[in-house]
Amino acid sequence: MLKIGSHLSVAKGFTAMGKQALKMDANTFQFFTRNPRGGKAKDIDIKDIEGLIKITKDNNFAPLLAHAPYTLNPAAEKEETRRFAFEAMSDDLKRMELLPDNYYNFHPGSHVGQGTEKGIELISELLNSVLFEGMKTTVLLETMAGKGTEVGRSFEEIAEIISKTDLDKYLGVTLDTCHVFDAGYDIVNSLDKVLEEFDRIIGIKRLKAIHLNDSMNTLGCHKDRHQCIGKGGIGLEALAAVINHPLLRELPFYLETPLDEGGHAQEIKLLRSLYK
Ligand code: FE
Ligand code: FE
Ligand code: ZN
Repeated sequence: MLKIGSHLSVAKGFTAMGKQALKMDANTFQFFTRNPRGGKAKDIDIKDIEGLIKITKDNNFAPLLAHAPYTLNPAAEKEETRRFAFEAMSDDLKRMELLPDNYYNFHPGSHVGQGTEKGIELISELLNSVLFEGMKTTVLLETMAGKGTEVGRSFEEIAEIISKTDLDKYLGVTLDTCHVFDAGYDIVNSLDKVLEEFDRIIGIKRLKAIHLNDSMNTLGCHKDRHQCIGKGGIGLEALAAVINHPLLRELPFYLETPLDEGGHAQEIKLLRSLYK
């Protein structure tokens, strides 16, 4: 069975997200750990979390994907911004222990002119300070489109961050189809080659999740504008090949297309019909 869900709002709580996912015929979902632009996370309601855990077990959900806020930038030049990244991520990872065996996804960061090498160094420094022995969450680095000074625009950059992190056993990768396409990886015409490259540079075992999005732009544009499934530069045929690929088909897929829950339910239905 295809493991698929979409991004849901955490505003109504954890149990509510589980119910919403079921309504959409999803068997996983993604959510922001706090306001995407930063700020305080809501107080923890244990009953609410237990309600979600029951739904995920009863319905055989794939791992959930918690997404760090966009403003989290461990590669920033300002110490204050880096301190926020540290505080938000360490707090998020502590909270995630209440929701064990799931994933925590973050954008590696932007080096803001300090250079990629410096950025990589700062990102692995953060990981070395927030990962802890025995943790129950796998932290996923998201592949980026390479807009501005984003780090993680190539498989090499992701691999380097991993190699500089001590507790790398708790690290994995989320491949975002829109981002890698915008970064210049031709998943439309050469999906096999791209995955071979991923395997050679990062190792396919690190690949834990797919953000399934079409792109508003063209190959290598470095833009990062998500489009609805089948309506963009990647197209339906290529995205159907992604969900059916032998190396990918067992992974969980998360939609981040510009649609509401009703629209996402339609996309889930479409993708289930294309899963062989
Ligand atoms: Fe993301
Ligand atoms: Fe993404
Ligand atoms: Zn994006």
